[in-house]
Amino acid sequence: MKKCYNLLIFLVVMPTRKKTSFITVFPESARFFKELRWPGGKKKCVRCESDTIYTLKTGRLRCKGCGLTFGDFTGTYLGQLNIPINETAHLLYLFSLGLPVYRCRHYITISMKTAHKAYTLFRRAIYDQSVQAFNDALKVKPDLKEALRSHFMLDFLRNWEADDRNVFFGIVVINGTVYTFPIRSDEKSNIYISKEPTQNRTILICADKKYCIGIIPVSGTHLLIPKLIHATNHLKLNTKIESFWTYLNEHLFNYHGVSISHYSLYIKEIEFRFNNRTKDLFHPIAKMIVQSAPKVSILDKNQLNI
Ligand SMILES: [Zn+2]
Repeated sequence: MKKCYNLLIFLVVMPTRKKTSFITVFPESARFFKELRWPGGKKKCVRCESDTIYTLKTGRLRCKGCGLTFGDFTGTYLGQLNIPINETAHLLYLFSLGLPVYRCRHYITISMKTAHKAYTLFRRAIYDQSVQAFNDALKVKPDLKEALRSHFMLDFLRNWEADDRNVFFGIVVINGTVYTFPIRSDEKSNIYISKEPTQNRTILICADKKYCIGIIPVSGTHLLIPKLIHATNHLKLNTKIESFWTYLNEHLFNYHGVSISHYSLYIKEIEFRFNNRTKDLFHPIAKMIVQSAPKVSILDKNQLNI
């Protein structure tokens, strides 16, 4: 009977261990990320893109073409994190489950500051990927692009900033996927003129079937997310955008204070979670962080107001 019981435990535990063992074990997590970085083992020089690469005794890579020595993750988002790769995998696992950093502190061996840095990096990868996907989606929707261009900034270079009362952004659905994007300053003034002050409510305005505008009040340096208060203008409301709005409000509330300076990262993260809410998030984000990171990210450009 005891043998039987032990066998039962073995069978229940084994599949779980098999799936998640790479998260905390160093060689497995390193192999996992390297396989994502170099699909099929095909390595390329990060400078000249030559595929004649050899591995040095130290484990670093050298390009026969241009002589550059580089690491597996040089130039990627992951390469910007100076923590053991198994810790990164563990943090990414906690992030993909939606656990805020302040709740991770019991489960990690690195400092909260470093964990924050890693979380910000995951969000930057999601942000850059979303902007790219949005621009690609608009390429095949010229009418929509024109309609949005007449009202909004579509180059993502500025205008995610907030004023002292609210933050604003656009929301649109293209082929079943929700995208958020910054709106133009003069559009903000029009909203102020035509709408009552938000008075600690979040507001979703859908003046057109094509897109909506989300407004979130600000308190000091942080977004103010009133619990369970969720006001909408039901004029021609798009149901998918309405679902996203509810989802966004709930998630922002759970983050316990989102800073204005980083709010676009959080909005984009929640957009990604919403679009993939029935899927595993660990693997898609792992794929994103082994991609080449732009030298100046779209977000940095935005913050620098270039
Ligand atoms: Zn090279």
